[in-house]
Amino acid sequence: MSHVGTLYIVSAPSGAGKSSLIQALLSDSSNQPSQVSISHTTRSPRPGEVNGEHYHFVSETEFKQLIEENAFFEWAEVFGNYYGTSRVAIEESLAQGIDVMLDIDWQGARQVREVMPNARGIFILPPNRKELELRLNKRGQDSQEIIAKRMREAQSEMSHYTEYDYLIVNDDFDTATQEFSAIVRALRNEQEKQAIKHSKTISALLEV
Ligand code: GDP
Ligand code: ADP
Ligand code: 5GP
Repeated sequence: MSHVGTLYIVSAPSGAGKSSLIQALLSDSSNQPSQVSISHTTRSPRPGEVNGEHYHFVSETEFKQLIEENAFFEWAEVFGNYYGTSRVAIEESLAQGIDVMLDIDWQGARQVREVMPNARGIFILPPNRKELELRLNKRGQDSQEIIAKRMREAQSEMSHYTEYDYLIVNDDFDTATQEFSAIVRALRNEQEKQAIKHSKTISALLEV
């Protein structure tokens, strides 16, 4: 058996800080090798979003074609747009021992757990509703109409936190980043993974 990466499902109401926390985690070299999966979406790019970096931006026709081709590991309709994780975005990386983060909603999370029961779920909550609204506004990239829609959806999204293994309240950003790193690092030390990684050392130690 080779060493495989862990698949993380990271969900939160829009604006709770999942993209920022994932970026902070990945920019710390001690959390390597790890990467975030780049989803396909039919929503329009925000100012500054780059195709192929933040998302693969596609038309609804292209998205439906990809569904037909069974290209998606999971997909869902969120806030009136389609979002999906392609198989190629994750399978090869996991096989190479790279941890992969999925920034996906709770509907996608359910589909992923069915196929990969070993995936670990992390749910991120904001400290309170007012702060969530402030962050959605602070990001300054969505219209008032879209922000209002996301705030309306937030409560029902947050009710799904019970379906996840870990819960982080993103109040102070550095504290939340440390909690996130602690989860990733602890999972790397699971006995089965360590036994594969250090098989030679262990064989030598146990030699009679
Ligand atoms: P943000 O999370 O507020 O920055 O907003 P986005 O527009 O990036 O994401 C909108 C919603 O789609 C969120 O609930 C995401 O978790 C979800 N989402 C993003 N990518 C995927 C995906 O590949 N699959 C699924 N199922 N959901 C996704
Ligand atoms: P999400 O990906 O969950 O929609 P983002 O990562 O885009 O959320 O964060 C939304 C906004 O809130 C961004 O402007 C980000 O800089 C800010 N933010 C994230 N975490 C915190 C925090 N702990 N304290 C203050 N602002 C935060
Ligand atoms: P945004 O439009 O703000 O980038 O994302 C909105 C929501 O879509 C976020 O909650 C994000 O997690 C979710 N999302 C992004 N990509 C995917 C995806 O590939 N699949 C699913 N199911 N949700 C996604």
